[in-house]
Amino acid sequence: MRKGLIILFFILTFAAGVIFYDFSYETEIPPEVIEEVQPEVNLIEKLEVEVKPPISLNTSKPRQADLVVIKVESVIQPRALFGGKAISFFAVSPDNWLGFLGIDAKASPGSSTLLVDLGEGEGFSEEVVVVKQSWPVTELALNEELEAQGYTPQNIATGIQENENVVVREAVLSYRSEPYFKEKFMDPVPGRVIVGTFGNIRESGGAGIQHLGTDLDAKKGDPVFSINDGRVVLVKEDFLNYGKTVVIDHGLGIFSLYLHLSEIKVTSRQNLKKGEVIGLVGNTGYSLEPHLHFSVKVQGASVDPLGFIDAVNASL
Ligand SMILES: [Zn+2]
Repeated sequence: MRKGLIILFFILTFAAGVIFYDFSYETEIPPEVIEEVQPEVNLIEKLEVEVKPPISLNTSKPRQADLVVIKVESVIQPRALFGGKAISFFAVSPDNWLGFLGIDAKASPGSSTLLVDLGEGEGFSEEVVVVKQSWPVTELALNEELEAQGYTPQNIATGIQENENVVVREAVLSYRSEPYFKEKFMDPVPGRVIVGTFGNIRESGGAGIQHLGTDLDAKKGDPVFSINDGRVVLVKEDFLNYGKTVVIDHGLGIFSLYLHLSEIKVTSRQNLKKGEVIGLVGNTGYSLEPHLHFSVKVQGASVDPLGFIDAVNASL
């Protein structure tokens, strides 16, 4: 027992010695060494600030049909490339720029590099990973009235592919690289009551089309508003499937499309202000009941139109 206490005493003394030794060692660092260490820490902090890229994305993992908002801090107008596509930027303040990258609903999933050139040899790259969406497959529906007019799933799918989509693609091919708008976007009809979701694949008898817009509930004759300032680039009275259609260029490659109107209130090449009435809700073309089919293209990419409005408005 006594022997045990002696051993414990030695252990405690040894431990205290170590602690004391460490403590005295710490206090023995000459003040000038600490002075030398301090500026180095500051230098590391400074370097970290300097190498932080002046770029931020609202998401680096967009899903198909999402919008990537690119913010760049720079005094020089940036340029960017993604998948061979050039992205236009506009200034929101003297040294803050915004660019919009639309991920097409049919974009291949996977990683691609976004290259941002800030001029004078300065550039940055960001990996953007496109995430696959699983689109629901629904029936391409028809009613007796449409069937009596000669609509079949086959001629709807072929007509859209060979006529409507060709004309619309042509209309959205060239655009102003500057935005027409300065303010946030608004909805084309109030309420956001969705009666046809974006992205559905509608099939019947081997024919299929992907629904690249959102169907919004509204009554026949309700006004349809331009979602922002822009210029009318297409007015079509006689599309067999899209019905009476208006396409508006908002600049930067952003276009809004309004389908199945009962009446069109604008003319081609007309300049528009946000909220101007461009037409009335209808049921023209391949449409089962009055509603507004609303689409947005960003540099040819079909994006979820309401998601587009929310993403842009969050950045403005
Ligand atoms: Zn639709």
